[in-house]
Amino acid sequence: MIIDDMREKIMNGSPLDDMLVIDSHSHIGHYPLFYTRDNSLPEMVKQMDRYGMDIICVSHTKGICCGSQDANEATAESILSYPGRILGYCFINGNDSPEIIEEQIKKYMRIKGFIGVKIYPGAGHDGKNHNTSINDENYGILWELAAKMGFIILSHTGGSGSDPSAPGRFEKILMRYPAIRLIVGHSGATYRGQLETLSLIRRYQNVYYDMTASSEGDVWLEDIVSQIGYDRVLYGSDFGFFGPGTEIGRVGYANIPYVAKEAIMGLNMKDLLEGSGLGIKI
Ligand SMILES: [Zn+2]
Repeated sequence: MIIDDMREKIMNGSPLDDMLVIDSHSHIGHYPLFYTRDNSLPEMVKQMDRYGMDIICVSHTKGICCGSQDANEATAESILSYPGRILGYCFINGNDSPEIIEEQIKKYMRIKGFIGVKIYPGAGHDGKNHNTSINDENYGILWELAAKMGFIILSHTGGSGSDPSAPGRFEKILMRYPAIRLIVGHSGATYRGQLETLSLIRRYQNVYYDMTASSEGDVWLEDIVSQIGYDRVLYGSDFGFFGPGTEIGRVGYANIPYVAKEAIMGLNMKDLLEGSGLGIKI
């Protein structure tokens, strides 16, 4: 068994204070559709300190359930409240017109602390708010602007094949815009969804595996790293919906080298952010 600093810290209940920790997939804001623990900003920052998390990259839960434009204003406020600790994704709803989508992206990508765009294709938690497919025409302007401006896209995904949020649906988009920086949220979640994600990562240089809740498909981190290496695997936890500790444990206890753990926990996201064309410096 490899005992390293990270595993030791977890076993002692100490914060991970000697490695950069960036959660690439978190949420802020009260969510009316299912129970969440206290996820007020002060409480979340308190938990970040307890775990030794330096930065969380968030989108507002209002974007999932109740309208994207309010969500983005609330995200902007949270970035300002905790400068350097909270970075934000601008939420885009695929049911909005291309004009609104373009206006939202251009407005928020100019604000310091915004790092990219979050989308939620699929049925959504209540079956009606998003209800779009990754391949919906309205998203066209998003891919175009992402290719031009270089910002990151974090897309919710789940399922495979004909599912509206199956990772394989990105194939068409990546064939047209092969260099867009894409985090495959949950990496497809299911086992088959994750196979689709791994196939994209092998063939497109800027596609990333998101650990967030990806344990659902029972694909172990050791197997991911042995298949695609560790430089495009990102720690993410859905913090705000869930506690951030589950994925920290998956990384900490994995039988992979310490250098891979450091990359997954923060250094890969740092490189992705700093290379994003928005002038971000971590
Ligand atoms: Zn999420």
